[in-house]
Amino acid sequence: MNDAKADRQLRLYVGLVACAAVGCLVWAVSHAPGLPAGRLFLPAACTVIIAVATTPLIWLRIRSDKRGHNVTSGAILVAVAMLPAPWVLICTALGVLAGFSGIRDPLKFTFNVSREIVATSAAVGAATLAGIRPPATLVVDIPPLSVLVPGLLLAAVAFAAIDDPVGSRVVSLATRMPWRQTLLRNFDVTVVLRATNLALALLVILVVGYAELLIVAMVPTVLAVQFATKNKVRQRVEHQAWQRLAGTAVQLNATELTVVLHAAVTRTPELFSADEAEIELHDVTPPRLVRGASDRLSYEGPRSEAPPRDGVSIEEVLEAPDSTPIGVLRLRFRKAVGLDESERYKLQTLAASLSTAIGNARAYAQLRAVSAENAYAAAHDPLTGLANRRELLEHAGRCFADREADGMLAMLLIDLNHFKEVNDTLGHAAGDVVLREVAHRLEEVAQPGDLVARLGGDEFAVLLTGLPTPAVASHRAATMLTALEPPIVVDGMQLNVEAAGGIALAPGSGGVQELMRRADVAMYQAKRGGRGTATYAHAHDTADVGRLMLGGELPRAVAEHEFVVDFQPMVDLGTGEVLAAEALARWHHPEHGNLTPMQFLETVERSGQLPAFADAVLEQALTAAASWRDAGFDLPVAVNVSPRSLLDPTFPGAVLDRLRSYAVPADRLVLELAETLTLSQLDVVARALRELREAGVRLALDDFGSGHSSLSLLSRIPVHQLKIDREFVAGVETSSEAAAVIRSTVDLARSLHLAVVAEGVESEPQRHALWELGCVAGQGHLFARPMRAPRLLATLQRGSGGQPGVLATPLHTAGSVVRLPRRRPPRQTPGASPA
Ligand code: C2E
Ligand code: CA
Ligand code: CA
Repeated sequence: MNDAKADRQLRLYVGLVACAAVGCLVWAVSHAPGLPAGRLFLPAACTVIIAVATTPLIWLRIRSDKRGHNVTSGAILVAVAMLPAPWVLICTALGVLAGFSGIRDPLKFTFNVSREIVATSAAVGAATLAGIRPPATLVVDIPPLSVLVPGLLLAAVAFAAIDDPVGSRVVSLATRMPWRQTLLRNFDVTVVLRATNLALALLVILVVGYAELLIVAMVPTVLAVQFATKNKVRQRVEHQAWQRLAGTAVQLNATELTVVLHAAVTRTPELFSADEAEIELHDVTPPRLVRGASDRLSYEGPRSEAPPRDGVSIEEVLEAPDSTPIGVLRLRFRKAVGLDESERYKLQTLAASLSTAIGNARAYAQLRAVSAENAYAAAHDPLTGLANRRELLEHAGRCFADREADGMLAMLLIDLNHFKEVNDTLGHAAGDVVLREVAHRLEEVAQPGDLVARLGGDEFAVLLTGLPTPAVASHRAATMLTALEPPIVVDGMQLNVEAAGGIALAPGSGGVQELMRRADVAMYQAKRGGRGTATYAHAHDTADVGRLMLGGELPRAVAEHEFVVDFQPMVDLGTGEVLAAEALARWHHPEHGNLTPMQFLETVERSGQLPAFADAVLEQALTAAASWRDAGFDLPVAVNVSPRSLLDPTFPGAVLDRLRSYAVPADRLVLELAETLTLSQLDVVARALRELREAGVRLALDDFGSGHSSLSLLSRIPVHQLKIDREFVAGVETSSEAAAVIRSTVDLARSLHLAVVAEGVESEPQRHALWELGCVAGQGHLFARPMRAPRLLATLQRGSGGQPGVLATPLHTAGSVVRLPRRRPPRQTPGASPA
């Protein structure tokens, strides 16, 4: 309803009520019995009492309108009991005209006066019907209580039945609130007032019936009662208001700023009977405005875009805990209103608790942000922003939990090849650029639902989800690795990143850990095979055999001598002469057949059987060496040593004991060390090795160049020999990089007076290339596969080209033109001491 229409309706309505009032008055004047001489006193007293009672003392403001509560009805009831009906109406008209004379607004004045007259007419009618008919003589003649009490009650109800709905209707028209709402508003207060009025009226009537003159005393009494009632009602209203305020304050106690603001602007209008409430926060950009009416949000957004509002507003500043203003709480009224002291105080209180609530909500928001940051940091890799290992495992765990919905799951592990070289040669900043670019590319090609993670170092993982078939996993993995192929530009240089990827499909059991392990197995297969990706295959999994054996098979294997040793000769690349032999362990398993070290070594190392195993190998190696020596081939024997053995303080003593009991000189034993030592282990290991070295035992660094700290390890552990990793030997002809590694290893060995042995020599061209690079010793299938000691002895005795102890034709007689190495190193056999 628009304002103009509502105003028209209001006028019309007031006009109707006024007409009814005039009608009643016309009737009253025309039917009023003449005033008996000397009986003016009673009507005059009633008029005065009505006037006094009408003076509005208690105002309850509804929105922009005030509504008075008074004891008019009580005074009117007194008149009803004592005066003939027409006189009641005339006195009421005069009384309320005087009582309401303070109202400025003519419409309001007219309405209030008319309403009382109409309501009084109803009361008089009801009383008359109930048998209260005061004599026309205007003499006080109180009917018996049995008539008086029900009559008055009926009159009071009739009065209220007109007064309340008529009054509420006009309030609803003036404030645009639903009629029902205005009628029921403060209903309890109204009922209490009406009851008080009735009781008051009865009292007055009884007193006056006793002594007519006492009616004079009634004026101050009515006033006193009215004041008392006023205070009572006011207290009550106040109490309720504070209760509502407290309720609102509780509602403001939210952790979400928006919830706080919404609660405030929708609850506040009711508290102050305001048309709207709004909160403006100007310490945010852009300043924010939230506006609401009772139980409804009317605007939320930037202040500048809020629809303008007419009328007046009363505001209170909102402050931060340090008293800096952060905004205002504003009450909006369509018409001018003023808040009384208590309302003002209420508004301040509300503003204070709102300030606190805003402060709390903001503090919570900060707390949430901080903990979100912490949670993010705990789940992400700071360098690349990818998920970290923990997050990957947790996420994968969740995917495992509801796998039915998701199709198949697979894990792709990606490891960059030679990343360490980037770090070592170009610096860590360049390494970081590469890692970030790799992360970026992987994320680009990942499908929605996949999770890309960095596990640490140059290891990445992608959890592939929603796979329709297993084949899709390899396809997606290939796509991921292809994305890494284009060169990465670092400081203007183009770097090619090679990577190996291992794929594993989610296993039926074993969960995430098993999935990761399988992907790891596959990744190493890819690495070893020099392929881009490999998919986990049960048949290639060494751990499955390994697990079989954990159930107590190792002690039996040791006791039953199931561990046997094969020997592979190391030869002089130039002459083909055998220089030494390396002992390689095999497990002659009763069920699984011959197991290679790859299949069982990890299990052995993790078990308590490592010392027994190492001793068995050493024993067989020394036995073999002694037997060859007896046959005229005094070859040093090389034995591989697990890093774990070196951490065992009894290990050096055990080795030296064995040497003594087999009467093999210490310098005929070479211990080959893999580079998988951590720096923290180095101290212990270095001590053990020093003891062995001082006793004369030779030391070799195995798989040199493939580990992570070849050079630094070399500086900590003084060895006699380097074994160039098979990976480089395999690439010696084709890769200039591999050739460069071999050449620098040879140079390094020469300057440190170390012997060098190339591992995995499989072809004559490799042998030639190695020779040209200055490498003088080699080992590999080209010369001999690992074999049992007696067979190796037979091979030695047979020899090649009629020469015992020689396994290959010398290079210079091999039919090809061979250039001698440019810098022929001093002849060193792998076993012999350097000069
Ligand atoms: P490794 O010390 O690098 O041993 C050389 C490996 O290369 C052996 O594998 C050998 O059979 C293989 N090999 C030799 N010539 C060639 C070739 O021309 N081409 C290719 N592709 N391979 C060749 P194996 O016997 O399977 O041993 C694997 C690893 O197990 C060894 O690597 C060594 O690290 C470890 N290992 C072997 N025996 C023992 C042992 O008794 N104790 C300890 N702790 N480790 C051992
Ligand atoms: Ca070795
Ligand atoms: Ca090796």
